[in-house]
Amino acid sequence: MEDIILVVNCGSSSLKLAVFDSHYNKVVSALAERLSTDDAFARFAGDEAPLSLPSGASHEAALQALIDALRARGILERDPVAIGHRVVHGGETFREAALLDDDAITAIRDCSGLAPLHNPVNLSGISATRALFPDVPQVAVFDTAFHQTLPPRAFHYALPEAYYRDWAVRRYGFHGTSHYFMTQEAARLLGITPAGTSIISAHLGNGCSIAAIRDGISVDTSMGLTPLEGLVMGTRSGDVDPGLFDFLAGKGISATELHEVLNKKSGLLGLSGQSNDMRSLCELADHGHKPSELAIDVFCFRLAKYIGSMMASLTRLNALVFTGGIGGNSARVRQQTLSHLRLLGFELDPELNQCNGLYSDGRIDSEGSRFPIMVIPTNEELVIAREALRLAETSQTV
Ligand code: ADP
Repeated sequence: MEDIILVVNCGSSSLKLAVFDSHYNKVVSALAERLSTDDAFARFAGDEAPLSLPSGASHEAALQALIDALRARGILERDPVAIGHRVVHGGETFREAALLDDDAITAIRDCSGLAPLHNPVNLSGISATRALFPDVPQVAVFDTAFHQTLPPRAFHYALPEAYYRDWAVRRYGFHGTSHYFMTQEAARLLGITPAGTSIISAHLGNGCSIAAIRDGISVDTSMGLTPLEGLVMGTRSGDVDPGLFDFLAGKGISATELHEVLNKKSGLLGLSGQSNDMRSLCELADHGHKPSELAIDVFCFRLAKYIGSMMASLTRLNALVFTGGIGGNSARVRQQTLSHLRLLGFELDPELNQCNGLYSDGRIDSEGSRFPIMVIPTNEELVIAREALRLAETSQTV
């Protein structure tokens, strides 16, 4: 019987589960959503019918139901050989993935102040799988870890030094697992070693971030202390003037309210007044909806500015790489963004761009482009599965 690896990704109200075989082929995946509400449900990818979950099902209950269903399908007849968990914040403690022993779990809990919406829920997934599979090695893979190589000039805010010393206020960066995967894949497709690869990686999904990777390591990125900084996102504002807090306090809007607005009611949604979904906004803009056009314009211009700013951290560029639902699928966003950067010599091939690089090893640049431009589908679950098995094997050889 095949060895299998389980990958668990607990979001604030969702849970994603993926099962890989020992050749890293994905056997099955499932998604549970609206957890802890009356509408909680789960579904295996490719299935029409949802799996029934008890009303108000927690992350633990959803996990139990999914594991039971996997067993019923004969996929989990014996325990997995390793379990990998996505953990959002590893602070300065975790520079790479870690085996989950009691010390590691305490250290993740200690990082919760930096990611109060994420780390506690990641920990509940970890404790649930530890209870279900007490003998299986479990591994945490951190969104922040890949960016721990940022130099001080990139990770310090220009704030009183005591904020960093006493409260660890600094830029951390997120989506690290994706940016790491993009580096590996770009290297493979370009036929160079990852350690010799310098790219700008743009991960554009509901959350959006960009990273400069020099010789295989992350040297700058757009997200900061939290995933709110940087690019325009689905519902997040990205960069705003910090003076906004005081100005809006004068209008009666508290810091708590503004935090909620900046995270959940801004970005594409705030600007368009219609949707956080780029595909819908493109359709609306095509039908002459001006606010949607503006939202796309602000999104692309901010992204272009950040691509330019990432150049400050690089001495050469092997490729500009796009991924995520928007980065991977929207020819319009890529075209509009790069139209602002003609001075830097990025040139798209219109047809390859339209095909999302599908038939050209990811390449979408024209012959005259100064730099390769690529589209690469990201695969964070695969990285987590690989790391889980790698560390599980080391745990057994000690
Ligand atoms: P998440 O960050 O939740 O994983 P995704 O990476 O799936 O999200 O990205 C979701 C975004 O991708 C949405 O804004 C969606 O509209 C956008 N998207 C997906 N396909 C297209 C497309 N063909 N054109 C434009 N945007 C697209």
